[in-house]
Amino acid sequence: MQTICKKCGKKYYPPRADCSACMGSEMEWKPIQAEGILVTFTKIHVPPEHFAVRQPLMPFSSIQFEPCAIGLLEVEEGLRIMGWMPKIDLKKIRVGMKMKASPQVLPDGKVTIVLGAI
Ligand SMILES: [Zn+2]
Repeated sequence: MQTICKKCGKKYYPPRADCSACMGSEMEWKPIQAEGILVTFTKIHVPPEHFAVRQPLMPFSSIQFEPCAIGLLEVEEGLRIMGWMPKIDLKKIRVGMKMKASPQVLPDGKVTIVLGAI
């Protein structure tokens, strides 16, 4: 969900209760389109536990992690969603590709946004 300022029309994601553009506080809730275009991404070499793929331990080393990508998806003009991309081959990720954002409940009950190929 996003909030839209009733006074000036500025959109906020994550949602906000007040508008920093016109100082208005009358906001309207509106659903966000889930599909968009990948604007940029980066690799996180030590991802959070939830997205860490543990590799077999090598002698004398601590746990090794495979990098996980995190990306920014533009779902409509001026509205960008950040999300993890745990299920995509890092070599196949390209700026400009179409992706879909969806919520994912983590083992500890927290919710995060995950981007997946369409
Ligand atoms: Zn405003």
